[in-house]
Amino acid sequence: MKNKGNIRKLIKTIFKIVFFPVYFFIALIRFTSEKIGFSIRLKLSLIYVRKLLNAMLWAGIIVILAFGILKVYNTIAYNYKSVSNLLPQEGRDYSKIENYSRDNRVHVLIYDSYKNVVFATEPALADYGYKETLSFINAGSGFYLTINETIFKSGRDIILVIYSDIQNEIDQTIELSKIILYVFAIVTFFSVITIAGAGKGVFYPIREMTETVRDISESNLNLRLNVSGSKNELKELSITFNEMMNRIEEDYNRQKQFVSDASHELRTPIAVVQGYVDMLNRWGKNDSEVLQESIDAIKNESENMKDLVDKLLFLARNDKGSLVFQKEEFSLTEMLVETVKETQIIDTKHKINCSINEEISLYADRNRIKQAVRIFIDNAIKYTPTGGEINIGLCHDESHIKIIIKDTGIGMTKEELEHIFDRFYRSDKSRTREKGGHGLGLAIARVIILGHNGKIKVRSRAGEGSEFTILLGY
Ligand code: ADP
Repeated sequence: MKNKGNIRKLIKTIFKIVFFPVYFFIALIRFTSEKIGFSIRLKLSLIYVRKLLNAMLWAGIIVILAFGILKVYNTIAYNYKSVSNLLPQEGRDYSKIENYSRDNRVHVLIYDSYKNVVFATEPALADYGYKETLSFINAGSGFYLTINETIFKSGRDIILVIYSDIQNEIDQTIELSKIILYVFAIVTFFSVITIAGAGKGVFYPIREMTETVRDISESNLNLRLNVSGSKNELKELSITFNEMMNRIEEDYNRQKQFVSDASHELRTPIAVVQGYVDMLNRWGKNDSEVLQESIDAIKNESENMKDLVDKLLFLARNDKGSLVFQKEEFSLTEMLVETVKETQIIDTKHKINCSINEEISLYADRNRIKQAVRIFIDNAIKYTPTGGEINIGLCHDESHIKIIIKDTGIGMTKEELEHIFDRFYRSDKSRTREKGGHGLGLAIARVIILGHNGKIKVRSRAGEGSEFTILLGY
């Protein structure tokens, strides 16, 4: 066991000596890659170079071993064949073997069956004693490998031991090792350059990405990464990054638009209040009519402003994620009937019908659901001419509770329908008619209903009225 370990160690040491430059190079790469924080590109290049060197090393070792073993095998096989052919058929005339031995760096020892030397081309070798097949001998004058065979000749057994000098084969193998080593050095040099160069192309998109991302700022949120070229992991990353930037840009623009719309909405009531304050300052102190008109107008506008600010705060809280619904079990039927009654008291210009016949309870934020229903009813009132009809209904199917608010008002076109849930959206008709809304009602109703995992369906046609259906899960 111990012997085997030693032989392995010896072989390893021999490899290390023969392939010293390659081992040195591998150790150098390992040391530098561990000690220095390389870029991914360099690290990858080093990994590939290391793998290549390892592969080359093993290929080299296999070629050299195969070459050496084959050479030695051929030599000893040829010698055995030649010497056994030269053995005399009769008697003990070994002169032919002596001649062959002189010309071919071969020594022959012949033993009788009692292992006494009968013949020796080099008597000194007999000192090494009787040898088994494939014994390795360093006889001072060179390295020998022995072959041992018992042959029946001239009516008796003789033991033929052939010592083949393999110094030449060892020299040739060392020569081949040197050539392979030079080839390694050249291949390694060019492969390092090629692999490092190839890495450049692969990592170019990363550098481009870094530069683009560095340039992206508030003023040019529209910059995007280049996603042309073949599809790979980096392209996927770029596409995902661009999609994220699209969302960020959209959100940013929406926020900007929101702030600008909100300021715009607040400017009008503030200007009105300022106008009346100026008027009061000039003439209102003594003129009771001007005084009353101003007070009414300021009261009206400040209520308007409060309503707007409340709506803005609601939406801002939703955007911030701090909107909380206080959910409880309550009677939806009772809440809707109450809302319809309140509406009938406030609005006497329309025919407000109620078709609520069944008791339905709901687990939700009562006040918020009522706020949403009020928005739809207020809109129905606002956008239905005097004398028109408004129907408020409640029903359910297997999966949903449905609250329906239907009017016979001005209705909406297909284009208008696409935008009615956008913040500050008001159709041209509703702007000119001075209905007094801010275009935030439906945006708020949508937040409330979606916040209860519900849905809103709208059916409307210009001039024919509208029907809003709130769908809520049980
Ligand atoms: P507003 O405060 O202007 O009513 P909303 O967000 O509640 O804002 O509504 C947005 C727009 O949708 C309105 O300006 C109007 O054009 C349209 N709209 C909403 N409800 C109705 C309805 N019942 N009939 C016709 N148009 C409606």
